[in-house]
Amino acid sequence: MTHRPDPSHTHTHTAPHTATRRGVLRGAAAAGAGTLALWAAGPRAAAAPRHAATPSVITRHTGPYEVMALLDAHGTFPGTQQGVFPDATEADWARARRLDPAAFGPDDTWELDFRCYAVRGPGGRVTLVDTGIGPAGSPASDWAPVPGRLPSVLRHAGIERDDVDTVILTHLHEDHFGWTVDPEGTPMFPDARHVVQRTEIESLGADDSARSYVVEPLRRAGLLHPVDGRVKVRGRSGCAGLTAVPTPGHTPGHQSVLVEGGRHSIMITGDVLVHAVQLAAPDVAYRLEDDQDTARRTRHTLLAEARTHHHLLATAHLNHTFHRP
Ligand SMILES: [Zn+2]
Repeated sequence: MTHRPDPSHTHTHTAPHTATRRGVLRGAAAAGAGTLALWAAGPRAAAAPRHAATPSVITRHTGPYEVMALLDAHGTFPGTQQGVFPDATEADWARARRLDPAAFGPDDTWELDFRCYAVRGPGGRVTLVDTGIGPAGSPASDWAPVPGRLPSVLRHAGIERDDVDTVILTHLHEDHFGWTVDPEGTPMFPDARHVVQRTEIESLGADDSARSYVVEPLRRAGLLHPVDGRVKVRGRSGCAGLTAVPTPGHTPGHQSVLVEGGRHSIMITGDVLVHAVQLAAPDVAYRLEDDQDTARRTRHTLLAEARTHHHLLATAHLNHTFHRP
């Protein structure tokens, strides 16, 4: 737990290191024959998602900002839903099923989207929030349905690579940074500064794939832009714009992105809630959260603020993408 920002704080749940997290994902993928077959069919699964009803681009507006949910991939999570959300009760699952029925696959499997977001403001400049699971050869290849489709989905959304002047990474898990660089380490968005919480970078273990695959190449290219705490990423202080909001727990330096443009702002949540069961029952922990107690508190705070200020939630892994809690 040496990567914890506050080592004096005690936690009731043991948090897996990223290496362990990868081990869990890989091990679970290898354990289920049906699941394994699906994941082995990665390229085909990516070309023709099983959940074909999910559009690859869904757009919502807040003031002058266009917020586009971009579907990088869809697949089945390695393992069962009860296995990764062991605290969830029958009642929690029943409510989750009403919120996101497409998440419920056969034999208690979890069907999920892997989404990024693009925010286009006045003038056409684009901020990308997360970059998905990436191409074949990206670190997520061991367990996720690669290749993702983000480049073609961006084209479909009318976004060129050099329209992107900012990339915000909510956190440094493999399914959120995959298209940041290509497998040779060349940045995919060479005109963009890449905004990551400093805490997130400092929490990475020496052998974490995020360090070698994404942090070091970005740093070498002069594109890494570490930030501390709540910061305005676009727009002046006190004005409408994009704000990076620390939402720790899933990882130590996890951040969400608030897009304020009109009466109803949009909160791009990242992995504060990874499944509708955590929307239905915010106390339900996800097995791979770094710090489950902090994640739980963060979830409650984010949902309470969303209700108070009428935020629309934009999620990363729910098949029913946007929610008003
Ligand atoms: Zn994720």
